[in-house]
Amino acid sequence: MVHGIRVHAVGGPDCLKWEEIEVGAPGPGEVRIRQRAAGLNYIDVYHRTGLYPVALPAVIGMEGAGDVVALGEGVTSLAVGDRVAYGSVLGGYAEERLIPADRLVKLPGGITYETAAAMMLQGMTVRYLLRETYKVGPETVLLFHAAAGGVGLIACQWARALGATLIGTVSTDEKAELARANGATHVIVTSREDFVARVAEITGGKGCDVVYDSIGNDTYLGSLDCLRPRGMWVSFGNASGPVPPVDLKLLKGSLFATRPTLMAYVATHAELAENAADLFQMVESGAIKIVVNQTFPLKDAALAHEALEARRTTGSTVLTI
Ligand code: NDP
Repeated sequence: MVHGIRVHAVGGPDCLKWEEIEVGAPGPGEVRIRQRAAGLNYIDVYHRTGLYPVALPAVIGMEGAGDVVALGEGVTSLAVGDRVAYGSVLGGYAEERLIPADRLVKLPGGITYETAAAMMLQGMTVRYLLRETYKVGPETVLLFHAAAGGVGLIACQWARALGATLIGTVSTDEKAELARANGATHVIVTSREDFVARVAEITGGKGCDVVYDSIGNDTYLGSLDCLRPRGMWVSFGNASGPVPPVDLKLLKGSLFATRPTLMAYVATHAELAENAADLFQMVESGAIKIVVNQTFPLKDAALAHEALEARRTTGSTVLTI
């Protein structure tokens, strides 16, 4: 008997139901995996609340790691027993699941299931944000909101490895310490500091080359004010609510704006494999340590959602199976 967390109607954390689920045999191009760990991501909240609609009922969750237990017709790239992981394929909150083989990567021996479940989505996101959306290098000054979060702590470490100057925002002094310990050059505590004024001070009035804003509604206007002329505003999340329609005049100073998603950067298997290989290399070399500060049994996913939305989590969170 296989269990998972299913949503029948959108709502608060209590709409996450631990139920028996039917998995079935893999179809052509698919494999069945027995999951060893699943990841918690903010997008799971958007799916649960309906901000990003999914067809219901649905097993939500976008990330996991485990073992291949059955192959569908035509799958030659994987074998039963392979250790695999993925980020960004709906259906992750389950003990077992079906998944297209070309959405999986094989896990190197040095990466545990827990680390994989903690980093595939958040780590590949940081990779495309810092290496592709804007090519961050030693000269880059970047502002990264929610710097002590799951994506945030990986971004701090990756920016440090690239030699960049990362200015992070966080809501508490404890989170500031954590962001600094993970490589943030400067940290702004938003509960007592105005981040726009502090960025101006830190950059000597020049502004940042790029702002990575996953907070959305509460921060987007300030974020635009933190950019240098021709800087780039990367709006990649909505933790405080979605950004309202933006008047193009807000991009005065010849700013660039983009609204990227991981899926668009790992749309082909080649892109997925390249991104994941870079992430694995950063982790296996020790340049990045995946910080798992919370674990919850999968059946308690509702508690994990509550903690994430109440801003009580830092680093990554894993749902254990
Ligand atoms: P986090 O661990 O970063 O958790 C969210 C953090 O946002 C909180 O800890 C909190 O940090 C901050 N925050 C600010 N305002 C609020 C608010 N009103 N409610 C809740 N949190 C708030 O989550 P993830 O690492 O999973 O994701 C970070 C962001 O990145 C999310 O917005 C997510 O949607 C986005 N994302 C986008 C992707 C893409 O490809 N577009 C892919 C992956 C993630 P503090 O208390 O320090 O302010």
